[in-house]
Amino acid sequence: MARKKALFYIETLGCPKNLVDSEVIVSNIQDVGYELVNNPKSAEVLIVNTCGFIQPAKEESIDVILDFVRLKKEGKCKKLIVVGCLVQRYKEKLEKSIPEVDFFLGLDEISEIKHICNSKDPFEDKRFILTPKHYAYLRISDGCENFCSYCTIPFIRGPVRSKSIDEIVNEAKQLADQGVKEIIIIAQDIGNYGVDIYGERRLNELLLDLDKIDDIHWLRLLYLNPQHITKKLLFTIKDSQRICKYLDIPIQHISDNILKKMNRKTSKKDLIQALGMINDLVPELSIRTTFIVGFPGETEKDFEELLDFVQKQKFDHLGAFTYFQEEGTKAASLPNQITEDIKQKRFEKLMEVQKVISQDSLERFIGKKLSVIVDKKIKPKIYECRSEFDAPDIDGIVFLEEADANVGDIIEVEIVNSLEYDLIAHPVKK
Ligand code: SF4
Repeated sequence: MARKKALFYIETLGCPKNLVDSEVIVSNIQDVGYELVNNPKSAEVLIVNTCGFIQPAKEESIDVILDFVRLKKEGKCKKLIVVGCLVQRYKEKLEKSIPEVDFFLGLDEISEIKHICNSKDPFEDKRFILTPKHYAYLRISDGCENFCSYCTIPFIRGPVRSKSIDEIVNEAKQLADQGVKEIIIIAQDIGNYGVDIYGERRLNELLLDLDKIDDIHWLRLLYLNPQHITKKLLFTIKDSQRICKYLDIPIQHISDNILKKMNRKTSKKDLIQALGMINDLVPELSIRTTFIVGFPGETEKDFEELLDFVQKQKFDHLGAFTYFQEEGTKAASLPNQITEDIKQKRFEKLMEVQKVISQDSLERFIGKKLSVIVDKKIKPKIYECRSEFDAPDIDGIVFLEEADANVGDIIEVEIVNSLEYDLIAHPVKK
């Protein structure tokens, strides 16, 4: 009789970069005979993959750890393992304050999980895809050396460590063989890809090689810092049938006063030039960006400059954060910290402006035909989909009505209506 498999559950917090670590962990534990379950209450091994990027993320991680400590006390869970960025930053403090956790593992100790779960096999970097089967994140490098003054990532994740082009192409082929249709390229800053191993940035060369893999339908690029936007890269995106006309370009602010304090590598002039180049060469490109409001020393004038820029630029997708005074960062000790009340008001004002921009800009799709990928069936004949202009989880949805489709299908639809952030579509009649 087959031995009953031990059950484990993993909770992943934070960004897609963390999700990729979880996928490696899941694959390795499955290799040693464990089975992944969806309910933490039924698991014998509980794993929390934490995020330590900003205070709210740290608090969320601690809350989940404490929830799991409570579950462990109920008796079913025999091992509680906590991994990820929070551990990398605060291992000693965590070990002292939450002794109920059996193992705290930093980012460079993740491979230990396999041994903790009784394996004698060497660690292999395989992955079990936790996203829906038709899309997956592909991390091309880890770490960052940009040292933006508000950010802890360079201290947590260390310097840039890139995979080789061959390694990434092989990983992409394996994903395509597993049925993945959309590969989402990620790193802390994909524009810095290759500097450590090739002595120069090689994102463009990597994309040209990935673009040759027939079974991949879409390649999506997230987290490209604006200083890396070049004509060569834009032509590669323009000429490719696979690379989505989509870029996630974190801008963070537009006032030179703030950009300098943030230790960003671009000035207002550089940013306007880069966005102008995109508009000239690939006008259909959908841009997602992020801003931080309430950075130390941000005056009303700086904020108005940001609002004015956003109103003129009309980004397709915009996310914003209120600045958080993160311990250990240079920005935390800057004078003229902004009150929470003002930060919140600026955040709300910015998002209100963006809501109107998004609503207006989506109207241009009405009556147009688009290819969409089906992410989820909501109810009979209604599906959640995305076009090449939307990344999963963060951007808008194309709600497909009156259709019969399977999750993962790529189908042609006609846009019949638009909402604030989403579109409504019907299948194109053949
Ligand atoms: S580019 Fe800046 S914000 Fe992004 S991870 Fe690196 S230091 Fe942090």
